[in-house]
Amino acid sequence: MVKPKIGLEIHQQLDTGKLFCSCPSIISDREPDFIVKRFLRASRSEMGELDKAALHEVLREKEFHYYGYYDTTCLVELDEEPPHDINKEALNIALNVAKLLNAKIVDRVVVMRKIVLDGSNTAGFQRTALVGYDGYITLKGKRIGIPTICLEEDAAKIVKRTPKYDIYNLSRLGIPLIEISTTPDIESGEVCREVAEHIGMILRSMEKVKRGLGTIRQDVNVSIPRGARVEIKGAQDLRLLNKLVDYEIMRQTKLIAIKDRLTKLSFSKPIDLTHLFKNTGCKLVAGVIKQKGNVFGMRVSNSEGLFGLELQPGKRVGTELAEFGRVKVGIGGLFHSDELPKYGITAADIKNIRKELNCKDGDGFVLIADKKETAVKGLEMVKERLKQLSQGVPSEVRKANPDATTSYLRPMPGRARMYPETDLPLIKPEFSQVKKARLLTELAKELEMKYGLSKDLAKLTVKSPKVDSIVKLIKRYDSVKPSFIAETVLKAEKEIRKEYKKEIKLSDDVFEKVFDALNQAKITKENLLTILAHSDTKDVDKLIEEMQAGVSDSELEGVILKAISQNKDASFNALMGIVMAKLRGRVSGSKVAQMLKKHLK
Ligand SMILES: [Zn+2]
Repeated sequence: MVKPKIGLEIHQQLDTGKLFCSCPSIISDREPDFIVKRFLRASRSEMGELDKAALHEVLREKEFHYYGYYDTTCLVELDEEPPHDINKEALNIALNVAKLLNAKIVDRVVVMRKIVLDGSNTAGFQRTALVGYDGYITLKGKRIGIPTICLEEDAAKIVKRTPKYDIYNLSRLGIPLIEISTTPDIESGEVCREVAEHIGMILRSMEKVKRGLGTIRQDVNVSIPRGARVEIKGAQDLRLLNKLVDYEIMRQTKLIAIKDRLTKLSFSKPIDLTHLFKNTGCKLVAGVIKQKGNVFGMRVSNSEGLFGLELQPGKRVGTELAEFGRVKVGIGGLFHSDELPKYGITAADIKNIRKELNCKDGDGFVLIADKKETAVKGLEMVKERLKQLSQGVPSEVRKANPDATTSYLRPMPGRARMYPETDLPLIKPEFSQVKKARLLTELAKELEMKYGLSKDLAKLTVKSPKVDSIVKLIKRYDSVKPSFIAETVLKAEKEIRKEYKKEIKLSDDVFEKVFDALNQAKITKENLLTILAHSDTKDVDKLIEEMQAGVSDSELEGVILKAISQNKDASFNALMGIVMAKLRGRVSGSKVAQMLKKHLK
């Protein structure tokens, strides 16, 4: 059994204003108000020694297009204006999180520039500041170290990558992020997920932490003995985290197992095989040739059966080669001998290909159909990748796919990538402004003990993005049963969907109005849902008024007197029942009780 080393890096967006300007932390997804086009600006002198990852990007010589918005971006995001002072509210939240993670706090917060050359930062660097260090969490008796807690600015969001230029959305740039890293002490995918959940719970215990998909991102570092550190970026779904780790362990284990075989490979030069495909039944290849493209092939001696080996579910060595070629030189179609005949490439085609490439028994081949230059370079990349793999698991950055497999993204960045931000002062952390947040696990207990929510309802409440408004409503409207408030806020939208067959988003404001009315006995529990269900088309105050006006005092009196005269010996409770049934939903129980008492005297 392999003992992996797993570490996590968690990025959580904050719901304060942006970190270094006054723009709101809102991602605009509409058509941009303006587009700015730039080439990468950072100069060699500014960066000192270019590291491997930096070079990787620079070599691509890309143009970048930035989508800007008048309401969510300003000159700071465009790097036309120096950063403003750090957002104090965001800093306080970061300090608070650091405390909850048992970390030591830095004497001075120093904003640093971290080189980022993929265009996602207009300045060519990301601003980041260490806030806490040497922290830890305890999970099921085991201690997991938290070496650093940083506050940093989020990068611009990628809209689209094209071979010529990349498009980024500037509105995400500058949104405050808390970055929390763990030591690589995690030993399984399952524990990894539990650690992420626990840290997520601590983060959500803060006010002003963003919620929902994309607002918290997990990067996972995985290595196994004889493997290498691989960083997996962009795991958004916590439920996939254990699978993601298990699949990476699988990939590294299998790569180690084939390492010796890979050292025995040898390669022919890329050879033009286009003439063999003049009348091909393969649509992809026919399309490429029609566009004046070529098919190039390369013999890989002793590779039979190798390309078809599965590294992760549904992903073979061949996939690994194709993805590497795609990132490096943008190849389109790659075929390998282990998957053919298929895709319209016939057994007769294979015979011809093998002959042209001079393949012997036990040899395999790789084909790339693309523009001539891309195809040739692509085969060189295939060779490079196989050589890399023959030296062991490459240490690199991979991206998480929705099915928990991973794909090659870029080489592992080097270390010397930071230098101080000269436009900003050092900051002495001020704890007078930092109030220590209560953990959601503690809040759940309070909702249970003090407000009488069931254990399950309390758990559901603290997990919900609406937890803050539920707690506020419970504290404010003390005549309404807390569990009724929690259930209504959590489930009203779903119930309306079921009963009224419509989608509706209920705002805090609407909930406040109806619970205020209920608290004052202006409406009943029964007609609360009716009001909510119509709040999308009608003013809530109006709806409440109508409900109140539903039964006039004289009408109510009439019903009560009739009930008393028709049920001479009935008790108070029985009469209440009769009257309420008659006026169901239109009047509050307390109002009926009041008037009934008066008439029974
Ligand atoms: Zn701004």
